[in-house]
Amino acid sequence: MLDSIQQQVLQLLPARKKTGQNGWTSFNAVCCIHNGETADTRGRGGIKTNAGQISYHCFNCGYTASFIPGRHLSFKFRKLLSWLGADDLTVRRLVIEAVRLKELVAPEELEQVPEEQIQYEARPLPEGSVSFDQWTTYFAVQGNDYLVPDGVVRAVHYVNHRKIDFQKYKFYLTDYEAYNLHRRIIIPYYYKNQIVGYTARAIVDGVKPKYWSSHPADFVFNLDMQKPDWRFVIVCEGPFDAMSIDGVSVSGSEVSDIQVEQIDRLQREVIVVPDSDRAGRKLVDRAIEAGWTVSFPVWQESCKDINDAVVRYGKLFVLKSILAARETSKLKIELKKKKLYA
Ligand SMILES: [Zn+2]
Repeated sequence: MLDSIQQQVLQLLPARKKTGQNGWTSFNAVCCIHNGETADTRGRGGIKTNAGQISYHCFNCGYTASFIPGRHLSFKFRKLLSWLGADDLTVRRLVIEAVRLKELVAPEELEQVPEEQIQYEARPLPEGSVSFDQWTTYFAVQGNDYLVPDGVVRAVHYVNHRKIDFQKYKFYLTDYEAYNLHRRIIIPYYYKNQIVGYTARAIVDGVKPKYWSSHPADFVFNLDMQKPDWRFVIVCEGPFDAMSIDGVSVSGSEVSDIQVEQIDRLQREVIVVPDSDRAGRKLVDRAIEAGWTVSFPVWQESCKDINDAVVRYGKLFVLKSILAARETSKLKIELKKKKLYA
């Protein structure tokens, strides 16, 4: 039973292949042309299986992918399956099968093959950053409410206006003039309870750029806030969208493989809500590739993004409308994409 996926994958291999004494079956690699390399003609792709575990390695372009019973089918592995010729339905079926296998594998067994962890170094916030809490406490203690600087008042109003929950999300301000940061609010980027970057959003008209950021590549914003018992995760473009609905943000419409992998590791339904500007198309295409659900909620033609909708209609309505309008069929997603970005 544990090797059911292994058997199906082996059937996808090309007819021309040979198995060496080291246990690797080699054949012309299927990955290279998808990674900007010329096609392999020298049998440099290899696959090895052992009790349901599957490893693929390409000695031409360097692509690797693996599957371990008990784990989810990673994005890299799913891409490999489609390059081997598996159609979308087959890939989806294997994804579900991988979830079922989970119940057959004891947690202790999985611990012996630790998942590769993504690590980020701590990064400092801009010099002189002070949290909203610190500012407000300071002025409350002084009893000098009328001395609260305009910048602070402006920032609090701004966050309030965007309907972000101050109890849940933390913001910073600084009066570091050189970067005009007193005209920005700083959203810290947490990863495993440590600040690994930030984005500083302009809150005064004409301050450019709108977002001034420093964070690791491939960062997924708000992963820390995802609770283990949640059934789905909403993927948004911007951090304000993510905060207003407790989803995650990929900082724009491009999603890297590592970002896909981090979101998939949450092991729940992934619902993408693209912005309604043209760049949102790219996010939809990526969602299709990753096998994710895409939602086209009713407010999409009048609101530019999730935060805009939350400001107008409230979080509960927006959440319900996202769930109600989700599409899993590739064909329907394509149709709605055409309609939205016509
Ligand atoms: Zn390759």
